[in-house]
Amino acid sequence: MVRKCAFPGCPNREKLTSKRKGALTLPQNERLTFHRFPSNDRERLNLWLLAVQRDVNLPINFVKHMKLCSEHFSPDDFKSVQQKRLLKSTAVPNLFIQTNKVRGSSMW
Ligand SMILES: [Zn+2]
Repeated sequence: MVRKCAFPGCPNREKLTSKRKGALTLPQNERLTFHRFPSNDRERLNLWLLAVQRDVNLPINFVKHMKLCSEHFSPDDFKSVQQKRLLKSTAVPNLFIQTNKVRGSSMW
């Protein structure tokens, strides 16, 4: 089963083949990782659900199957543990997909 990122409009999918070579040759910070919702931390879970525009009253069994890809977090939200990229226990998704666009130049 291919899991899709729970973020609205995000096309990223978790590929089960990602453990093969190819993916591992990418630098760690460019690799897409998927992260479970913090179902045992109600307060943070609500923030996650708000970020993905879901009902905060979703059944926990449903939420447990949802995942978010690493694109919705800032680099500061991650920590490296034994070559693995893990989310910090305080991480909350950004509300919007980050782009490389530079904000308006109103100063000029
Ligand atoms: Zn995503």
